[in-house]
Order: sequence, then C-alpha cells, then structure tokens
Amino acid sequence: MTPFLKLMLYGGITALLWCILCWFNLLPWFFVWLLLFFILLRLVLGAIYIQQNFYLPSINSLADVGTDASEKKICLTFDDGIHETRTPRVLDILRDKEVQAMFFLIGKNCETQKDILLRLQQEGHRLGNHSYAHDFWFDMKSRQAMYDDIQHTQQLMQDTIQLAPKFFRPPYGVTNPNLAKAVKRTGLTSVGWNLRSLDTVAKSSSQLLEKLKKDTKPNAIVLLHDRCEYTVEVLTEYIDYCLAQGYTFVLL
Ligand SMILES: [Zn+2]
Repeated sequence: MTPFLKLMLYGGITALLWCILCWFNLLPWFFVWLLLFFILLRLVLGAIYIQQNFYLPSINSLADVGTDASEKKICLTFDDGIHETRTPRVLDILRDKEVQAMFFLIGKNCETQKDILLRLQQEGHRLGNHSYAHDFWFDMKSRQAMYDDIQHTQQLMQDTIQLAPKFFRPPYGVTNPNLAKAVKRTGLTSVGWNLRSLDTVAKSSSQLLEKLKKDTKPNAIVLLHDRCEYTVEVLTEYIDYCLAQGYTFVLL
C-alpha cells in the first residue's frame, strides 16, 4: 500500500472517530480542523517531493537499484530535451568525455528533432519519456489523458528509433493519484532524483558549478536540463571534477 493510501485509510478513520467525539462534546472541533490541515499538508508535500514515493514509487537514488555507495557511481540525467542547439553541444561534450547519460525527452520536441533523437540513441544514451507536451496543467489531467499523453511519446519514439523508453520522469517531478495509475498502466518505471542542480534558476554558470560540486555524492541521480545554457557551459568542468573525485558515470 502506498503512503497515500495509508494516509487516506488511517487519516480517514481517525477523522471520523474524532468527529464522533466532537459531536458528543468530548473533543473540541479544533482538533478535527488541525488533523485535516495536516492531512492536506501531507498530500501537497507528497505531490511536490517525488523522493517521498508518496503516490508513485520512483527510483530516486542509485541505492534504489542496489548500488553500493562505496562504488562512487553517479548518473547524469537531462530533462526537457530535445533542444535544437544545446542538446547537440551536450552530446559533443559527453562524446569527448566518453560519458553516457539519461535524457528524459519531451515528445513534441522529438517530433521536430528526429536527427538528434537518432544521434542520442546511436551514441548509447538512455532515453526516457518526459510526457508529450510537458504542459503546465499536466497534473490536472485525467488518468486517461495522462496515459494517452505518455503513450503518444512512447509511440513516437518507437516509430522513430524502434525503441520505446522504459523510464518515465513526471513533468516538474510532481506526482498525484491519477499519474500513479496512468504510469502503472503504461508499465514504465518512474525516475526521480536526489541531486537537484536548480540549473533552471541558476544566476550564473559559476554558481551552478559550485552547487553541483557541493552536492555531488555517491549514488546521486543528478537532475539537469539540456535546454539551459549554464548547464552546457559547466558540463565539461563538472564531468572533469567528478572523474577527479573518483566517480564513474552509470545509467539505470
Ligand atoms: Zn521537465
């Protein structure tokens, strides 16, 4: 049972019992409101922190796939591609450094950048599904609409590179009960992260590089975006840093 279902079950039973006690003036109603507030807070935190596996179990660390921390392995992941100019620059760097990474691709970008999609596959990177449109309201969609959206990208990639991804990363890393059911139906494995670079909001390349260096740890799944200029700018130096620290780069 997921933490969400446990909360619904035990939280619901507790709320009901407390309501009965309040009804007979054995408990102030304030306690029921407080309980409902904490349940709501838990639902929100579970939605925005994929690492909590609250609605949807995800791989959030290499430890989740049995990697020992002493092995000093990390996995680079790039979201939101394919970007017309920056993704090829990222690929050039990865090729020069002989590093392979995971790319969680937006379906509609793959439609217009099929050459780069083929290159991603030919150069041995692991490709994942990051929805078709990555639209702002994705998490408001129905279970069926989410399923259709994910399957659209699966089909597109199957048709283009004859290989449908096995991994899915929720847009914005947000999860909810509808998404959990849709992903389960697709049979894909959800992937989160445990090192958020915050490259989308970095103020400078040096700030981004410092954060990455500070947070790098064994078993890290690093969240990056190949659409971000600073990410491309720091990538060579970051890979060199990781190699100098004795890390090896792996894929899921
Ligand atoms: Zn994204």
